[in-house]
This record gives sequence, C-alpha cells and structure tokens, in this order.
Amino acid sequence: MRFEDIKLNKNLAKGIRELGWEEMSPIQEKSIKKISSGRDLVGIAPTGSGKTAAYLIPMINKLQYAQGENPRLMIMVPTKDLVFQVREVVEQLCRFNNLRITSIYGGSGKQRMMDELERGTDILIATPGRVQELAVTRFLILKDIKYLVVDEADSMLEKEFYRQVEKILEMLPEERQNIFFSATFNQEADELSQLICLNPMKVEI
Ligand code: AMP
Repeated sequence: MRFEDIKLNKNLAKGIRELGWEEMSPIQEKSIKKISSGRDLVGIAPTGSGKTAAYLIPMINKLQYAQGENPRLMIMVPTKDLVFQVREVVEQLCRFNNLRITSIYGGSGKQRMMDELERGTDILIATPGRVQELAVTRFLILKDIKYLVVDEADSMLEKEFYRQVEKILEMLPEERQNIFFSATFNQEADELSQLICLNPMKVEI
C-alpha cells in the first residue's frame, strides 16, 4: 500500500513525501489503520522494519497542530540513544507542522529539559526514570496524555523498569490509547503489555 492512498493531513503527507517514502513497509501496512481506529495495539516487529513510523504516522496525524501546554503524546523507550533515534524520525515527519517536541532522559542535565517543557510541548520522547522524576516534582504534567507508546519494550522487562512504568501509569489519565512495540514477545513482555494496554489488537511481522 502507498502512503498517498491513505487519508493523512497535508503537512504530514508532505513530510513523508519529502523523505522519499512511497510504499508502506509490512508493519506500517498492518499497524497504521488499526492505530488510526483508536484501539490499543501490541506490535511485534524488529528494528529496521519501519516500526517507528508505523506508530508515529497515525499518532502525529491525530495530534495535527500544537495545542495547550502539556504533552498529549508520550513515547517511552529504554535508553537515551533510542530517545535520540525516535526524535529524529519525529522531527522528519513533523517538518511541515508546528508540533512541539521535547525529549527527556537520564544522564544529562535537567535544566534544558525543564526549559523545553516550560515552553509547552505536544510530543514527549522519554526514558521512564526521568519521566517519573520530573512528574513527581511536577515539572512534567501528565494529565493531558491521550496517547502512550512504549517502544523497544523487550529492553524494559527488568523489575526496575516495570516498577517505574507502573508508577507512571498511575499518573496518566485512564482514558487514553496505548501502543506497545517489542522485537520479541515472551511471558514477561506479555505481562508488561497487559499492564499498559486494554484489550489490544495484535500485529506481528
Ligand atoms: P525503524 O525500524 O523504525 O528503526 O526504521 C528503519 C528505517 O527505515 C529508518 O531509517 C526509517 O527512516 C526507514 N523507513 C521507515 N519507513 C519507511 C518507508 N515506508 N519507506 C522507506 N524507508 C522507511
């Protein structure tokens, strides 16, 4: 399927064209419509399959324009490097819209992150430890999160991550859409997906 065959807002469609992407990858073909429908989704797909854009395209399409002070989409990944990687794809896709992007992660000064949050943000890309820390101290307000993505979840299965995610979920509004992506799926990944998602559809490549 081609990107031009689905209905996307024009700034996002332009961002995709600018990247030179025409055909969807298999995981994108399986996920984009389902995520657009509003249901929770568990996706099993390796890095390199185009899974980042598989969740970003429908999510960015829902957000459309900058709005309010607090993030509406939160993407959680296990490491700082992954925060940077995801941010790069977000920036590419958002080149022609005005959505504000903030990344927060451990191991670096908090001031820049707090300044960025203060300016207002639509999309937050984050590691769980920093989310918990900044949310507890009220620098980060999670009450407007409508969409939650947990990506590379198979690297978040240690007890510490699990506990952090549990604490973060308690601070999120109950009414939200949840997306869970993992390269592999075992019993622990299943447990974490059940903690995050409600009655999810499942896609696998
Ligand atoms: P990911 O699996 O998300 O790490 O993506 C792997 C690479 O594929 C990234 O460099 C993306 O920029 C690229 N990519 C994602 N979707 C497409 C597509 N539909 N057509 C061409 N390249 C893509």
